[in-house]
Amino acid sequence: MATKEKLLLKLKETLVDYSKEEIDRILKAYEFADIKHQGQKRASGEEFITHPLSVAIILAEMKVDRDMIIAGLLHDVVEDTDSTKQEISNIFGKNVSNLVAGVTKISKLKPLKYNESESETIRKMLVAMTNDIKIIIVKFADKIHNLDTLNFLPSEKRKKIVNETLEIYAPLAGKLGMHFIKDKLEDLSLRWVNPEVYESIKGYFDRTEKDRERTKKLIAQKLSEKLSEIKIPFTIKSRAKHYYSIYNKMKKYTLKIGELFDLYGIRIITDNIQNCYQIFGAVHNLWQPIPGRFKDYIANPKKNGYRSLHTAVIVEKRKVVEIQIRTQEMDEFNEYGVASHWFYKTGEKPNTIELKWLKKLVEVHKQALSPEEYYQVIRDDILKDEIYVFTPKGDSFEMPKGATAIDFAYRIHSEVGHRCIGAKANGIIIPLNRPLQNGVLVEILTSKISYPKQSWLSFVKTANARKKIKSRLAVNEKEEKIKAKKESDEKEISLLKSNKKLKFISKKSASKTKYEVEINGEKNFLYNFAKCCKPVPKEPIVGFISRGRGIIIHKKDCYNLNHIKDFGKRTIEVNWI
Ligand code: MN
Repeated sequence: MATKEKLLLKLKETLVDYSKEEIDRILKAYEFADIKHQGQKRASGEEFITHPLSVAIILAEMKVDRDMIIAGLLHDVVEDTDSTKQEISNIFGKNVSNLVAGVTKISKLKPLKYNESESETIRKMLVAMTNDIKIIIVKFADKIHNLDTLNFLPSEKRKKIVNETLEIYAPLAGKLGMHFIKDKLEDLSLRWVNPEVYESIKGYFDRTEKDRERTKKLIAQKLSEKLSEIKIPFTIKSRAKHYYSIYNKMKKYTLKIGELFDLYGIRIITDNIQNCYQIFGAVHNLWQPIPGRFKDYIANPKKNGYRSLHTAVIVEKRKVVEIQIRTQEMDEFNEYGVASHWFYKTGEKPNTIELKWLKKLVEVHKQALSPEEYYQVIRDDILKDEIYVFTPKGDSFEMPKGATAIDFAYRIHSEVGHRCIGAKANGIIIPLNRPLQNGVLVEILTSKISYPKQSWLSFVKTANARKKIKSRLAVNEKEEKIKAKKESDEKEISLLKSNKKLKFISKKSASKTKYEVEINGEKNFLYNFAKCCKPVPKEPIVGFISRGRGIIIHKKDCYNLNHIKDFGKRTIEVNWI
């Protein structure tokens, strides 16, 4: 159990880079919070002050500014003690009291329904974030420490918190370039999502620690020999690999931890860009690089501003080591993103950072969405990684990763979505439920008489498409009801007229029998049976992609097929179900 004395010592150690004036002020805030929380306990039985202290340590590790650390220490004071915003403002200034109030506002909201409170909290948080990103950073630190102490909560509540962390908080940290936070949130969640895997990964790193340390020393030694002639300064650190990404790899390839091969990571930090490339050259000179693993994120930064050189080389016998090379400034920014020191010092937004999604966020806040819809839009449309897809005209669209042709069709226009009967990626028909690849050219095949299928809801990825499909299906249902009513009325009348009740019904139901086929293994296409050859089940058949009428199913030996120009190019395999 961490005592407040131990934590206070750790906080002081973490503050070495801060000025004496800053440290004094932070410690004054600690004393204030300690007195206010006197006698309060956490669910773990620890003194309550250990929580704000831990939050402050996390913030200090990120080297955020003084007021944010103070806000970390005071973040629960207004909510849980008799202290007021005014009091904090008087002692610590308006800046601090605004931060504390912001964090309090985020967590205090407690409407009637539990689910509603979650998405409302997230909405509040994101609105607050667009005003002051510092509030979010303090909130992240709060979240990290709470995740670390989840074992004292009932399992249902824990599950909810972990889901929310993986769906919203971690991706959000990633978008803001705060990998330090993203990795921590994900790794802490993994402990609850899959404790066995977590332990196996942890066990592996504990067991291999000495060997990794040895490899690091070897690399450092060879590199400094190589670089001493040209006098390039560098520091080298072995990198704690991110457990959650290892877990994802294990899941993807169904491998055990020992079967993954590049678990050794090294980071080399130097003073300027030119030296990054010099070191990179030396590394490839000393050890055999693995083809395809070199990535230049300095020349081509990631959208969240991440910059680094990446490569993987074989050190000693078959040992693969992943190497990252970057400057100090890049390293800080890669870890802490918008929370990084120089970002605040200079106050300027790096032009490499892509904040387009922040604008999207503001747009979402203008829409009138239910709490549930809001949560889905944020999770599925705003925070997912993006891919780019192109229209035949060459326009590019940004789509969340995992989006399908149907999502894309709805993105272009609601009517395109409603009328979609099939899609091609780079000229080849693709199943409508398959996630689109980055960079493909997508052509949506439509039909004027088509409308959305219920089954689409099971695979679309964007909240936008889901919402439009649902509302169109609702309209259909209404129309069908009216039509059905009309039909049954007419039937009634004709029955009364003809008085041949039984015969009529049997005839009607027979004509309704519909044979079903699947196209390329997919059932979601619009198709019609050719009127010329009228295929029936078991006869060999072939599909023809018509212009505007979906896919027409002919008998394979239909005479008419010989007369269609470019028939070969437009055929598609179909099978009876
Ligand atoms: Mn808290």
